[in-house]
Amino acid sequence: MNALEILEAYLPTPPETGTALSAEHISLAFGGLQALDDVSITVPTRQLVGLIGPNGAGKSTLFDVINGLRMPDGGEVALFGQPITRTNPWDRAKLGLSRTFQSNRVSLELSVLDNLLAGAHHKIPGSLLGTLFGLPGARAGERRARQVARAVAELLDIADVGDEPVGSLDFGRQRRVEIGRSLMSAPRVLLLDEPAAGLDSTESAHLFALIRRLEADLGLTVLLVEHYVKAVLENCDLVYVLNEGRLIAAGAPDDIVAHPEVRAAYLGNVIEEVPVDA
Ligand code: ADP
Ligand code: MG
Repeated sequence: MNALEILEAYLPTPPETGTALSAEHISLAFGGLQALDDVSITVPTRQLVGLIGPNGAGKSTLFDVINGLRMPDGGEVALFGQPITRTNPWDRAKLGLSRTFQSNRVSLELSVLDNLLAGAHHKIPGSLLGTLFGLPGARAGERRARQVARAVAELLDIADVGDEPVGSLDFGRQRRVEIGRSLMSAPRVLLLDEPAAGLDSTESAHLFALIRRLEADLGLTVLLVEHYVKAVLENCDLVYVLNEGRLIAAGAPDDIVAHPEVRAAYLGNVIEEVPVDA
C-alpha cells in the first residue's frame, strides 16, 4: 500500500454529500463585548471552507465554540447532523473533529514521528501498560500507528526528517507536523487556525496545496481561519467573512471579492493582490 492508501484505510469514510459541520445562531459575549452576534456557518462535507476577517472579528472565538472550548450564550453546533453543543472537546475529537491552534502545540524535543504518534493516542488499542508489558494487541496497535505515522509524514513532505527533533526544523515543516498530528487522530473534519501564520508566500502556497490534497484525495472536510486572504480566495470552495462579531458575507471566492461590504470593511487594504475578475 502507498501512503495515500494507508491513510485512506485509517481515516473514517465521510459521507459523499450533505453538511459536515454547522454552527447556527451562535452568540457569545465577553462582559460587554459581543464577540459573536448570531453567527451561522455551514461547512459542506468534502470541501475546503475559509473563515476570514480583521483582527478581533471573532474567528478564534468561533473556533473555540465549534470545538467545545467555549460554551456559546446561544446557538447550536452540529457535526454530521449530530448536535454537539454540549459535548466536551475530548468527545468531539472522538466524533471526528480535530483542531490545530494559532500557535504551534507540537513538542519541540520529540522527533517528527513521535509527535505524529502522540496524535494517535486515543486510536491505539490497548493501554500504555499493555505496551510496556508487551501485550500482543497493544503491540499490533502501535505497529499500525507507526505505519500510519510514516504515511502521514510522507504525504506532508516531512518523511525525510522523521527522526529529527521538531525544534530543529524550519517553521513551515513544524506547521506540517502539527497538521499531521491532527490527521493522526483520524478526523472527519479538520479545523485549522491560521495554518500559514509565520510562513512566507512560497511556504504558504506549498501548505495550501497540501491542504487541498487532503481534501481532494482523502475526502477530508477542512474549515480554516487564515490571515493570508489571497491563499484563502485562491484555494477555498466557500468563504465566510466575519467583522466585529457579525457575519457580513458568505459565498464563493468570486462573490466575496466583489462584495461591497467586505471590500469596505476589510478587503480594501488587501485588494491590490486580489483582482476582482481573477
Ligand atoms: P480573531 O480571532 O478574529 O482575531 P477573537 O475571536 O480572538 O478574534 O476575538 C474576538 C473579540 O473577543 C476581540 O475583541 C477580543 O479582544 C475579544 N476576546 C477574545 N477572547 C477574550 C477573552 N478571553 N476575554 C475577553 N475578551 C476576549
Ligand atoms: Mg484569532
